[in-house]
Amino acid sequence: MTPTIAKAAFVLLAAGWYVIRIPHVRRSRRTPIARSARGACEITLLLISLTGLGIVPFFYIATGFPKFAAYPFSPAQASLGAIVAVASLVMFYLTHKALGRNWSVTLEVRENHKLVTEGVYRYVRHPMYSAFWLWAIAQALLLPNLAAGLSGLVGFGTLYLFRIAEEERLMIEAFGESYRGYMARTARLIPWVL
Ligand code: SAH
Repeated sequence: MTPTIAKAAFVLLAAGWYVIRIPHVRRSRRTPIARSARGACEITLLLISLTGLGIVPFFYIATGFPKFAAYPFSPAQASLGAIVAVASLVMFYLTHKALGRNWSVTLEVRENHKLVTEGVYRYVRHPMYSAFWLWAIAQALLLPNLAAGLSGLVGFGTLYLFRIAEEERLMIEAFGESYRGYMARTARLIPWVL
């Protein structure tokens, strides 16, 4: 493992995520929305997350900025990062497959929205956010720069902390007791733990 391969692994993670997501973005445009919690706050959170997981690390990969935050590269750390990146992509694939037409980039309930409790959703109720946490951890392990490495954890962490209660409130509003029951038997991110 070299610094260049580690950077390439991060670029491949982003490219793989894009390939998995793009058909869902297209399909979601065609599926009418019944309830939406999209507002200025949600858009701001999405931008913060995008900056931390994408803009800051890509700028670092292209320019090396910010140099003062660089630290020595560790092949073992970066190899672990590559493994976490693969795990993140596998989770992204499984969550998109299970959510299907019920997916939205923001908080929305679509017409004929189905509560998904199968596939990876059987074990945790926010597996796509687990996948984003894995992305942020992979980023921190792959990029030997405190700013570019940790910006994903900060950016996605902000979105997650501000969004999660609101998302569960929206799901309870839409699915009532079924969602409450689902909450009672699942963890949010890590099966049986958290
Ligand atoms: N929080 C989930 C989904 C993220 S995508 C996860 O991490 O896997 C966000 C959209 O998914 C929201 O608009 C919400 O309406 C929808 N959603 C969240 N959980 C769902 C579920 N169990 N079944 C169906 N749709 C769900």
